[in-house]
Amino acid sequence: MAIDYIIIGAGVIGSATACYLKKALPESRILLIDRNHTAGAGNTAKSAALFRNFFSSRTNRLLAGSSIRYYLELGSKVRLDPTGYLWLFSKEQWNDSQKAIQQLDPEKNKFEILDRDRIMDILRINYQAKGHFPDVNSGIFCHLCGSLSATALAQHYASLFESMGGEINFNTDIKEFIITGQNSCYAPWDDVSVDGIVDQKGNAYNAKKFIVATGAWTHDLLAPIGIASGILPKKRQLFALKIKNNAGLLVNSTIRPAIILPAGGVYIKPVLDKNIIIAGCADDLGQPFLMSDPEPDPLYFQNAIEPVLNHYFPELDFTLSLKWAGYYDYHWPDMTPVIESVANLTWVGGTSGSGIMKADAIGRIAAARMQGYEEAFLADGSKFKVSRLSLRDRDVEKEELII
Ligand SMILES: Cc1cc2nc3c(=O)[nH]c(=O)nc-3n(C[C@H](O)[C@H](O)[C@H](O)COP(=O)(O)OP(=O)(O)OC[C@H]3O[C@@H](n4cnc5c(N)ncnc54)[C@H](O)[C@@H]3O)c2cc1C
Repeated sequence: MAIDYIIIGAGVIGSATACYLKKALPESRILLIDRNHTAGAGNTAKSAALFRNFFSSRTNRLLAGSSIRYYLELGSKVRLDPTGYLWLFSKEQWNDSQKAIQQLDPEKNKFEILDRDRIMDILRINYQAKGHFPDVNSGIFCHLCGSLSATALAQHYASLFESMGGEINFNTDIKEFIITGQNSCYAPWDDVSVDGIVDQKGNAYNAKKFIVATGAWTHDLLAPIGIASGILPKKRQLFALKIKNNAGLLVNSTIRPAIILPAGGVYIKPVLDKNIIIAGCADDLGQPFLMSDPEPDPLYFQNAIEPVLNHYFPELDFTLSLKWAGYYDYHWPDMTPVIESVANLTWVGGTSGSGIMKADAIGRIAAARMQGYEEAFLADGSKFKVSRLSLRDRDVEKEELII
């Protein structure tokens, strides 16, 4: 039986897309392919796996909020831990963010505004400014936030897909596309499309439609066949720090949120049962849009993260125990996902550092697009116009609350 759809990439996005497509089209033959040995072993496995519904852009709120609704139902299956987020602002940042924050409804979006005293009830933090490090003036405690296991989430979608009769080929590395006629001298009136793909062993796979969900590898895969995907890779690093105890971080361990500090885009995720905190940083200029060096850099920790932690948590005793690096798949202009097609090929990606928290919605929207629907139904029952995430008819808002 001929294959109807091939999805390349079994990260959280490809697996969710495969799952919702198979659910909608049970009679179709759908093949999910990945070069790794299991689902979610690419950048999905490298993520901090934090989730938040707290965005200024309505699109991001819809994508993340509806996905979180679904993840809450999965609960312990994906090791969901709704610890909350504590987003800290200096006085200046607070004033600058007012326009974005005032658009949000604390009740509906489940957050509360904390003054400095209330922050000090939760964190043992130095709130004073010094040098590069601004003061801690205000905070937002976001209740519909936390963490989960990103690989468990990808594997949940992949196994649901398989249980519905979907096929998966792991250890299959796609090296090239076969374009109609194997000819690069097409006339404008030629009907050019993708006939097939070829793996590392030279095996060819043909299908009616192809979906590329290869995250940070999308540009390298699609640029050679003349597709400007709008998605570029950027290195991001995480550092696991062993702490003696949480006394230098939290007032007590019953409230143990992920924390976004007011300096340098540094954030931390406490994993208190293992006496670990995971620290990351949202750096920007100077970090190339290239997949050049996948190794984490201890100097980066020393320069960009350690001084921030030392300033805000002077009593926190930590040693660097583990470090890793991965790649964000950025859609640079608005840092919002992309779902676009050329001929019979569709690509879905550009998750820009928030693909875990939005995967359920992205999977549903990509599956709707593959079926030619104008709207997708998200997990919270809301409708989402599919073309809003396209490049040609894009309709998304600028995100103001960026980490
Ligand atoms: C350090 C770091 C921290 C992050 N923290 C968070 C966070 O806290 N919260 C959040 O929501 N997001 C976070 N992210 C982002 C998140 O990890 C991504 O948005 C998400 O994993 C994207 O999923 P994906 O399926 O598109 O990509 P991937 O998981 O990378 O999946 C792509 C798959 O395609 C496969 N592939 C690629 N090319 C080929 C090929 N030629 N042939 C066959 N297979 C191929 C790969 O093997 C891979 O499995 C973080 C990312 C990083 C790097």
